[in-house]
Amino acid sequence: MIVANEKIDEQKLKNATDIILQLQKEMPKYIARGSGPFLAAVYDQNGRLIAKTANSVVGEKCSHNHAEMNVIKAAEKALDTYDLSEYNLSLYVTSEPCMMCIGGIMWSGIKAVYYGVPSKRVEEITGFDEGFKPDWLNEFKKRGITVYGNIAQQEGERVLEEYVQSGHIVYQPER
Ligand SMILES: [Zn+2]
Repeated sequence: MIVANEKIDEQKLKNATDIILQLQKEMPKYIARGSGPFLAAVYDQNGRLIAKTANSVVGEKCSHNHAEMNVIKAAEKALDTYDLSEYNLSLYVTSEPCMMCIGGIMWSGIKAVYYGVPSKRVEEITGFDEGFKPDWLNEFKKRGITVYGNIAQQEGERVLEEYVQSGHIVYQPER
C-alpha cells in the first residue's frame, strides 16, 4: 500500500509510478555492468531528467556510493551547485532510502522523494541492512520534503529477487 507524508495526489503518484517502473525496467542493464540493484533519478518540476545513477559501491570501491548519493552528486554537478533547493527537484528511487541516504537527501535541498520497495522488504529479500530510521516520513514533512513510498513495489521486489538469485554480491560490512 502506498505511504505518503501528504494527502496523496493521484497525478504525482501516477507520474512517479511511471518513472519508477521505467527505472526497474532499466536496472538489469546497470546490474550487468556491475552496479548494485538500486537505481535513482532526479527530475525537475517540468519533467526534465537532471541525473540518473545506480549504486556503484562495489565497482568504485566506495561505501557511500548508493544510487541516491550518486544521483545527488550528479545533479549538483550538472547544475553546478551544492544546494538544490531553488530547483524544486524530485528524487525517484527503486527502493526506500537507507539511513545514510536520508541524511544525504536532507542536506541536498531535494524537495520530494518517491521510492519503490520499502526497507523491510529489501532487508528480507537481499539481507542488506538499511539502518534505523525513526519516523523519517514525518521528519521530512517537518522540513518541507514530500515523500511517497511503496510505489510499484511488486515489480521492484521481483528485480531484487532476481539479483539475489543470480548470485550477485550482497555486502554486509558490519557482520
Ligand atoms: Zn543508501
